Amino acid sequence: MLTIDSLCWLCLQPLHIAHHGVCSVCIGQIPPLPRCCPCCGLPADSELFPCSNCRIKPPVWSQLIAVSDYVSPLTGLISRLKYHREDKYAPALARLMLLAWLKARRARGLPRPDLLLPVPLHRFRHWRRGFNQSERIVRLLSRWSDCRTHSTALVRLIATRPQQSLEAQQRRSNLLGAFACRADVRGLHVAVFDDVVTTGSTVEEIGQLLLHHGAASVQVWCLCRTLKSESK
Ligand SMILES: [Zn+2]
Ligand SMILES: [Zn+2]
Repeated sequence: MLTIDSLCWLCLQPLHIAHHGVCSVCIGQIPPLPRCCPCCGLPADSELFPCSNCRIKPPVWSQLIAVSDYVSPLTGLISRLKYHREDKYAPALARLMLLAWLKARRARGLPRPDLLLPVPLHRFRHWRRGFNQSERIVRLLSRWSDCRTHSTALVRLIATRPQQSLEAQQRRSNLLGAFACRADVRGLHVAVFDDVVTTGSTVEEIGQLLLHHGAASVQVWCLCRTLKSESK
């Protein structure tokens, strides 16, 4: 008899490789990413070397790993987890993130981070939503990737306006002083997980904070990297 672990977490069909969690049909529905810069994660000529924008003005993080562009089906799965509290999607999304990380490790020799941290929610939003979806995904990723995590290392001090409603410039000023780091990250290679990276201002702000606190390097892990640069 099939145990639940040998069924795909998304379509509930039997899996060929039980520990994969998500079947090849469901993975096949995620549009593959074009060739992207390993640093900013935007379309580029090489996936091994930083693009010309990153060579001129590198972001604070060294590498970005994404599962998909901000398109269906991931957008739907993220919002069902986030706004409809459909908790069953957390393991599926965490698994997709893990597979993207393993692929990036093979392709680019990406080092395993010492610490994996979720982008924090302000305690008010956390309370209203009941949970932080990124924290839930990170907890699973931490177990599967053998990276430590720390749920209170990063805190959001200010209940900022939702980033989606703002222009690129406003997004940056909206986040000034919004986060604090409450853990000793000196000398550590840290990966920051956010479900969606659009302009990158949230992870830029957190990356800066971590480097300021002595982190050796920062990677960004995200489910969706918005590839359309409408906000440039
Ligand atoms: Zn499936
Ligand atoms: Zn780049």
